[in-house]
Amino acid sequence: MKPLFLNGPVQNGPFTFVSHPGKSVGIRLAAALNAVLGQPPVPHLWNTATLAGDLRYRAANGPRVSRRRFDADLIERKYAPLQSPAGGIMTDTDSEVADLALEMVEHNLRTGFLAISRETVRTCRRCGHMTGDGGHPCNACGSTDIQDRTGLHLVARPATNRPVLDRSDIHASHRQQPRHLQHTAGSVDRPVILSRTRDHGIQLAPLGLDRLVLDPRVGVHVTVLAAARRHRADLAVMTITQNAANHVAAHGQHFREHDGIRLKYALHGHLPFDDRASLEPLHAAYRVTQTIKDDFEKWFLPLFSLRAKTATKPDQLVALFKHYMRAYLAQPAEVNEAVMNDVRRRVSIGDTDWITNRQSLANVIAARSEPVMQPTPPTYHDGPRLEQ
Ligand SMILES: [Zn+2]
Repeated sequence: MKPLFLNGPVQNGPFTFVSHPGKSVGIRLAAALNAVLGQPPVPHLWNTATLAGDLRYRAANGPRVSRRRFDADLIERKYAPLQSPAGGIMTDTDSEVADLALEMVEHNLRTGFLAISRETVRTCRRCGHMTGDGGHPCNACGSTDIQDRTGLHLVARPATNRPVLDRSDIHASHRQQPRHLQHTAGSVDRPVILSRTRDHGIQLAPLGLDRLVLDPRVGVHVTVLAAARRHRADLAVMTITQNAANHVAAHGQHFREHDGIRLKYALHGHLPFDDRASLEPLHAAYRVTQTIKDDFEKWFLPLFSLRAKTATKPDQLVALFKHYMRAYLAQPAEVNEAVMNDVRRRVSIGDTDWITNRQSLANVIAARSEPVMQPTPPTYHDGPRLEQ
């Protein structure tokens, strides 16, 4: 199966990619890997069903635009003019995602993995927000007046025959499987509540759960599957940090396979963007152009984060930049197809050794600047209309 890489939906906060370059790593990583495989551009995925988003919209003092427009505007401002993603933007509340989510929930209800049952949850008496366990005040309104409230909820039964995550859920070659993650994410022994109180999200009213939405940790999985379905891929690989994967895995356990599409995680680490100044002497020594600096930061480092699954340390930057420059300067005049096929095979199975191999990297860099024959994108709409 040829994977299609998609970013784990990014929370739509009030940041920009310039102020928070780390937020774009999953998007850039997915784009870099898809390009190696000759996959068409994919949508950038965004998570808008957040409590922070609810509070921001409320605080905007009665905005005259819909919540959907409000979030779309915030997303749009993250991209420079004329830099909108070629594959478009998809959010976790788009109708395409909501339709698929309800289809999957209904399927899971029929098979018994999900159920609608009476559950008792900690709920704010002042605003009705489900606050979760722990003695903290309400995250939505700050009230400490919190009580147990019983009502109907959508719940996932814990899978008895497999851990929340196993080897087959992670897109990594055998040797590069992170045991730690499977251990920490693997301990769920009670039903997981999948319905939440949110102003914005995938409404569960069609299931009789009024005023509840699907937990966004489920929604991020469905968003990735919806994008894969649009591209007619059968293997969707979500780029995600280990922490985030630990946070969403239990909620996603019945939402990683549907209608012939399988979802796996490609785990990546954090990058030390705050320490980029340490590279300035090297930039001067190599007399690098802005394009080379950008390619290192926005293309190579995201790829490297796939190898360094926890975090890349600031003191690794110099060695990484030297490695990148040596590969850059070793680019062949003509791309070696045998080397590229080996790289593509490795990308397809989650092997990352090619990233630190100078010859492989040199060929991939050379292939990037070659005019490529893009495969014809799938037709999932009427196609562009030509002006008469
Ligand atoms: Zn409250």
